[in-house]
Amino acid sequence: NTRVLLAERPVNRAPVASDFKIERVPVAEPAEGEVLIRNHFLSLDPYMRGRMSAMKSYAEPVRIGGVMPGETVGRVVASRHAGWRTGDTVMAHTGWQEYGLVPGERITRIDTNLAPASHYLGVLGMPGMTAYCALLYLGEPQPGQTVLVSAASGAVGQVVGQIAKIRGCRVVGIAGSDDKIAYVRDELGFDAVLNYRNSDGVAKDFDTLSREVAGLCPDGINVFFDNVGGVVHDAALSNIAQHGRVIICGTISVYNELEKPDIGLRWMRQLLVKRARMEGFLVYDHAHRTEEFRQTMAGWLREKRVIFKEDVAKGIESAPDAFIGMLAGANRGKQLVRFSQD
Ligand code: NDP
Repeated sequence: NTRVLLAERPVNRAPVASDFKIERVPVAEPAEGEVLIRNHFLSLDPYMRGRMSAMKSYAEPVRIGGVMPGETVGRVVASRHAGWRTGDTVMAHTGWQEYGLVPGERITRIDTNLAPASHYLGVLGMPGMTAYCALLYLGEPQPGQTVLVSAASGAVGQVVGQIAKIRGCRVVGIAGSDDKIAYVRDELGFDAVLNYRNSDGVAKDFDTLSREVAGLCPDGINVFFDNVGGVVHDAALSNIAQHGRVIICGTISVYNELEKPDIGLRWMRQLLVKRARMEGFLVYDHAHRTEEFRQTMAGWLREKRVIFKEDVAKGIESAPDAFIGMLAGANRGKQLVRFSQD
């Protein structure tokens, strides 16, 4: 069983390869009530950067020497739990490793007739459900309104924009490269797009971004779905419409600065003046909507009203580099790892 451990905590910096340790250990046998899963796909998600930090958050940090956390899909290869049989295709939180031992109650069955297994880590899984619940239940988008989404081509962002289109909104996307911009405009049908980086790759300054957002959202932003925070957040918020809704879904621009004391206090005056509503979102609070989400999204996928791009790295050994790359914007769509034995 090859697995990836946390070797060192990056403090106020981007993670590097030596923060991770790859090791091989014998495959363990399931105890009573447990199931052994051989993984096919691992999901790499920005929240894992938070787990590498010792700072207080909504979840416990990974301990040094612990397996990096993460959701996987795979097959049951041995079961000592009455609910599961060898060959079942399942989803579980086994972490960054080829084989995972999980209590039978903590496994979800997935239906590969409905969609490919990898989709349960993306458009039909946590990122898709984040897009669906946060946009529809916090954002309450109305036909004709302007929805702006940051990290627009990523796992969450690409779904947010497409659902907003289905709801009859005008959708504006922000992303960090010309090919991402082309993807959301030409393939996903966003109405307007903006690259937040200059041609040298450095983020544009506040004045430039704020002016460019104003140009694309002349009537203001009714729903701002923020995945990134930082200067992109400020530029969008400066263009919020009256009674606008700001969904704080992610703040990836500061995930490498979590130990700094002043992260996150800004722009409250703008909320007051516009009587806008800003709300933090956590997908786990919406667990009761899982079935509604899956059925609706599966229908949209079937009808091709939603499409979804995945970026698949090969082999568990590639997980650290793929994760480091995703945090820096190298991913093209939902970042996954495919285990090399398949
Ligand atoms: P993505 O697939 O969008 O990948 C992350 C992207 O973030 C990168 O590709 C990069 O794109 C962008 N990015 C990185 N650094 C910056 C920066 N400094 N400024 C602007 N953009 C940056 O990831 P996900 O869709 O999986 O996640 C998106 C966000 O949603 C994350 O913040 C994540 O934590 C959050 N999230 C929150 C959940 C919740 O329950 N609250 C659940 C799931 C996700 P680019 O090239 O455009 O810079």
